[in-house]
Amino acid sequence: MEITCAGAARTVTGSCHHVRLDGTEFLLDCGLFQGGHEAEADNRAEFPFEPAGVDAVLVSHGHLDHVGRLPLLVERGYRGPIYATGATRNIAEVILRDAAKLQEEDHRRELRRATRAGREDEVLPPLYHDADVDRTMELFRTIDMDTPVSLPGGARARFRPAGHVLGSATIELDHGGTRLLFSGDLGNRESALQAPAELPQACDLVLVETTYAERNHRSREATEQEFGSVLASSLGTGGNVLIPTFALERSQAVLYEIRRLMERGAIPRVRVFLDSPMATRLTRFYEHGKNEFRDEVKEVLAEGRDPFAPPTLEFTVDTEASKAINAVEGGAIILAGSGMMTGGRILHHLKHNLWRADASVVVVGYQASGTLGRALVSGAERVRIFGDEIRVRAGIHTINGFSAHADHDDLRRWLDATGDAEAFLVHGEPDAMDAFAAELRAAGRRVTTPEPGNRYRR
Ligand code: ZN
Repeated sequence: MEITCAGAARTVTGSCHHVRLDGTEFLLDCGLFQGGHEAEADNRAEFPFEPAGVDAVLVSHGHLDHVGRLPLLVERGYRGPIYATGATRNIAEVILRDAAKLQEEDHRRELRRATRAGREDEVLPPLYHDADVDRTMELFRTIDMDTPVSLPGGARARFRPAGHVLGSATIELDHGGTRLLFSGDLGNRESALQAPAELPQACDLVLVETTYAERNHRSREATEQEFGSVLASSLGTGGNVLIPTFALERSQAVLYEIRRLMERGAIPRVRVFLDSPMATRLTRFYEHGKNEFRDEVKEVLAEGRDPFAPPTLEFTVDTEASKAINAVEGGAIILAGSGMMTGGRILHHLKHNLWRADASVVVVGYQASGTLGRALVSGAERVRIFGDEIRVRAGIHTINGFSAHADHDDLRRWLDATGDAEAFLVHGEPDAMDAFAAELRAAGRRVTTPEPGNRYRR
């Protein structure tokens, strides 16, 4: 067996692992590197394998950092099947088309700027276009959870629920008497919506994510209580409450909690806006998902009700409807992207509300350094949005418990079920990864923290 990590090696994004098993070549995920100029260069770099030589691609879930380089793989010669669950296929299409659109918009903006400077020759083309996404989607083969599937070369794979986002799976790959296991992204056992990841069987080698290998999350109950009391006190001032959210999983988890709080009478039934076309499309998929949710969520669906729809929910898809929200008086809850406040419709709402003392921002996701979100969480008194200086008078609250990722104890429990398999640690920051590697080695496990592009033979 040979393993080459073409992403998510000593870093979090760009998940992409090339595996040669008994002469057959597999690719596990083909995700985009995200964050800054370095990521841009990594995405444009050649793959450390020949795309046309890969026999099958298996995709763990629909996040951009797990599917975002698929169109590049196809453009560079891959013509084989891409296996994924049905939900992952649907989510991947929404995410990839949005990525192609953003890349084309960025390219047009850069070209305008470069043309004014007489440097248009220096502008690189978009990474890919919507037509590349069309060609990619044709290669998808959807498979059911927990059902073995035959792959090229006589190999077999089984996808099992990972508890991370809708459709997310761990992938078991059997070939020539060897079993390799890929965690994809593992869910938080205290997830608002997903049932915990199914525990794996023993295997020979396991590739496991380590995003939160160094910490444990708060319990679901504590998170729900904290979220409820922050919303109740924020709405008590009569101002608007802004919730910047990621479109996949976080938006639906937040809507789910708001619905429960309203039905219990814990917060007033103010208007709730999901001001994101992408989150609106993804929420439709959630309404048709069933199998992987926690029992409580399944029960609401079984009653014919929508778990993700507070009684006052409004979807604002076109920009006119989005702008009209600015005129709403007397307190409303507004969910919009982007999750780290680096772009998107949330910026307009922040511009209209941050300077009001009765408004609130409730932060429910990780805020990377250098983002507007991080500045607000860190207590910035003034920020700039669309060139305007804004005094921050709104209340800023952070709720930490909404993570969609396994924590330290989740990872240990899942890994323990793999027997004495060698562990390749991927999808994490080096510090957290190294500390976890030391802990696992002390417990007697063989551990490798692969370097990007290196080939490991086992
Ligand atoms: Zn993910």
